Amino acid sequence: MSPRSDFTTLETLPARARVHVLGAGPVGLMVTALLQSMDHLSVRLYEKRREYTRTRMVRLASYLVAESVESYRADHFDAENIEAVFDPRELDESLAFRRSIPSDLMARLREWALGFCPLNQIEHSLSDLIDARTSSPVYRSAAVVTTEDAIAMLEPGDILVDCTGSRSLLRDQLVPGSGQTDGSANTLNMRFEYALVITFLYGQNYACNEFCKYYKNRENLHYKFIPMVHRTHYDGSISHVTGIVNISTEDYEAMPTRFDGQWLRDNFPDVARSMDRFIDEIKQETHGEILGDLEIIRIPLNLYRARNATSRQWLAGPSDHPFANSPVFLAGDSAIGSPYFQSISLGFECAMFLAGLIAQRDLPLRDMLDRYEQHIYKQWLRVYMQSKMIKHNKDLFESLDDPLALLEKLHIY
Ligand SMILES: Cc1cc2nc3c(=O)[nH]c(=O)nc-3n(C[C@H](O)[C@H](O)[C@H](O)COP(=O)(O)OP(=O)(O)OC[C@H]3O[C@@H](n4cnc5c(N)ncnc54)[C@H](O)[C@@H]3O)c2cc1C
Repeated sequence: MSPRSDFTTLETLPARARVHVLGAGPVGLMVTALLQSMDHLSVRLYEKRREYTRTRMVRLASYLVAESVESYRADHFDAENIEAVFDPRELDESLAFRRSIPSDLMARLREWALGFCPLNQIEHSLSDLIDARTSSPVYRSAAVVTTEDAIAMLEPGDILVDCTGSRSLLRDQLVPGSGQTDGSANTLNMRFEYALVITFLYGQNYACNEFCKYYKNRENLHYKFIPMVHRTHYDGSISHVTGIVNISTEDYEAMPTRFDGQWLRDNFPDVARSMDRFIDEIKQETHGEILGDLEIIRIPLNLYRARNATSRQWLAGPSDHPFANSPVFLAGDSAIGSPYFQSISLGFECAMFLAGLIAQRDLPLRDMLDRYEQHIYKQWLRVYMQSKMIKHNKDLFESLDDPLALLEKLHIY
C-alpha cells in the first residue's frame, strides 16, 4: 500500500466546511443524505441529468443494514473475505456509525435491502428525502460540471466528493502532472469478459439455483444462459429474472448497446437459442409465460479501482493547485467498479465510511485521507476476491461437459 501522505498545507477542516458532491446518482445522493444533517457542513449537489430514468431492477446487500458483526458476515462467501481483510475494531466502528444514521434514511435502506427495487426509485426516494429536510437545505445545481468548473468552485478547506460514476470526472486528476489522457493515469482495470445481460418477467414463481443452471443448459454447448441467483426474485405474482451470456469480443463489437429478444434471434441465432432453450425449460417446469419483451444490453464486465481514491498526492507537498488545499474523495463507481452487480452496496458502504470520517471534526486531514484510502483498498480486496471467485466458478461451469477443458481451467496447487 502507498505510504502515508506528508500533508503540510491544511491541518484540519475549517469549523464550517462546504462540501461539493459531484453527481447525484445513488452514491452521490447517499453521500449528500449522510452529510446534510451534520451541522458543521453545508452541502452542494451537482447533477447533469434532469430526470431519473433508469428503471433496471437492482438489489442491495443485506450487510448495509447489519446490526451486528455476525449479520454483517451473513453471506458465507463474503464472510471469510471480510474476516481476512478487516480488523474486528474496524467492523465495530462501521457498525457504530451505522447506528447513528438518521432514521428516515435507515428506514429506506432496510426496505431496499429486502428485495429488488428499480434504480430510479432509490434515486427518487433519496432525492425527495434530501429536499424534504428543510432545516438543513442542500444547494442543488442542474448542469454538466467540467474539470475546470470543479477546480474553480473550490475555496481552501472545501471538500469535494466525486460521485460521477465509472467515467469519473476527477479520477485521473488525482495524480499530479501525470499528463496521461487515456484513462490509465490512476486506474487499475481488469476486463473479465463481455456479456449480454438479459432481463425478463415471468408469470410464475421461478426459483433459480446452481443445479437448475446446469440442467437447463444441458443442450447449450457453446453459449450458456446463466441466471444470477441473487438477481432472480419472485414478488408474489411475477418473477424478475436477470441472467448473463458470455460473448466474444467480435460478438460484442457487432451488437448495438441495447436491443430485444427478436433482434437477438434475427442477428445472433446461436446466442438466442441458448436463451430460448433455457426459458423453454423454465416454462415446461412451471407452466408460465414471459410477460412483455426481453430487455438485453451488452456490457463489458470490468473490475477496476482508482489507485488513488483521494487527493493525497496533491496534499503531499506545497502547491498552489486547489487540490492541495481541499481534500478530494472518489466514491461509488468513481472509485471502484465490480462486474457482478454489487456496486451500489459497495458505494453506499464507502459513503458511510467517508461520512463517518468527515463527522469527526478534529480528525487531522492527513489521517482522514489515509484512512479513506485504506478503507477503499480493503473494500477493493474484498470485491476482488469475490469477483475472481465468481468468474472462476463461471468458467468451470461453462466447461462442465468437457472434462479436458475443465481440467485446463483447474489450478489445484
Ligand atoms: C444491468 C445492470 C444491473 C445492475 N444491477 C445492480 C445491482 O443489482 N446491484 C448493484 O449494487 N449494482 C448494480 N449495478 C451497478 C449500479 O447500477 C452502479 O454501480 C451504480 O449506478 C453506481 O452508482 P454511482 O452513484 O456511483 O454512479 P452513477 O449511477 O453512474 O451516477 C453518476 C451520476 O453522476 C452524474 N454525472 C456524471 N458526470 C457528471 C458531470 N460531469 N456533471 C454532473 N453530473 C455528472 C450522472 O448523470 C449520474 O447521475 C448494475 C449495473 C448494470 C449495468
